[in-house]
Amino acid sequence: RLQELQAFAHRPACTVDGKCFEIVANIGTPEEAELALEQGAEGIGLYRTEFLFMHREQMPDEEEQFQAYRRVAEIMGERPVIIRTLDIGGDKELPYLELEKEMNPFLGYRAIRIGLNQPQLLKTQLRAILRASVYGNIKIMFPMISSLEEWREARRIYQEAEADLKQEGKEFKAGLELGIMVEVPSAAVLAARFAKEVDFFSIGTNDLVQYTIAVDRMNEKVAYLYDYFHPAVLGLIKLVIDAAHREGKWVGMCGSMAGDPLAAPLLVGLGLDEWSMSAGSIKEIKRIIAGLDARACAELAERALQLNTTAEVRELLQTFHH
Ligand code: PEP
Ligand code: MG
Repeated sequence: RLQELQAFAHRPACTVDGKCFEIVANIGTPEEAELALEQGAEGIGLYRTEFLFMHREQMPDEEEQFQAYRRVAEIMGERPVIIRTLDIGGDKELPYLELEKEMNPFLGYRAIRIGLNQPQLLKTQLRAILRASVYGNIKIMFPMISSLEEWREARRIYQEAEADLKQEGKEFKAGLELGIMVEVPSAAVLAARFAKEVDFFSIGTNDLVQYTIAVDRMNEKVAYLYDYFHPAVLGLIKLVIDAAHREGKWVGMCGSMAGDPLAAPLLVGLGLDEWSMSAGSIKEIKRIIAGLDARACAELAERALQLNTTAEVRELLQTFHH
């Protein structure tokens, strides 16, 4: 049984009727990239860089960041590596940044908001990523984007980092693909406009659920409300994928929904292009996709989107699963 499952790890994820999907991994450290490869990852869909910054006295400088990003790029070779810029704040603290205590840290000074308020910090990271880009196939994404202004400002800082490196005669690949995480409802609602400007989207369901349903992702007391099969969340996911495809852009998902076997037929049906998950889930998701019919999944997705409650959606998917 286990051997049977293992056989799927290094096969492409294609449905019975020949529709293929990109299955990639979420990582937090360069070491995890090796593990991801062993598990059959076709790339890295989310490199959470905050772990490089946490549990230490000082900010890692450009050189140290460069070395870490370069390692991941080298391990993955030609395969894509999406590096997410620092997503700190919320529940993640950095002692040396001296962030103030906030009433609502998840609605406060977090992620790209810090990067735009302290552009030196973001620019140093972007310089390190650009320098590492020479060693592999790196793309960049920005976390917690909630408006077009934020995205444009982040892109401007990226362009400045390129210009500075060029002037200094440093090596880098110009014009890396730039994407945004869609994890705030305002970004999902404006997906059609973002799609004209970004190279790709990655849907972060962990936060998108939290912000769409107004339910703290860490609070046990309200955990019963926290569900990515909520009809409002499904509606936003559908909207984002369709908006991107209309502009010829691709869509990934790096929240935990992407690694859920129950969600797989639905995500096939919605046409999600890239699925990023914990390395341990890859072979199981590949196995499930290999047994699916894309046209049946499209019908399933259409039906799921008509339903009124989370329970109805779960029931439909359970029935399909068995
Ligand atoms: C998400 O919000 O879905 C996500 C992938 O980011 P994180 O879990 O790091 O907040
Ligand atoms: Mg998130």
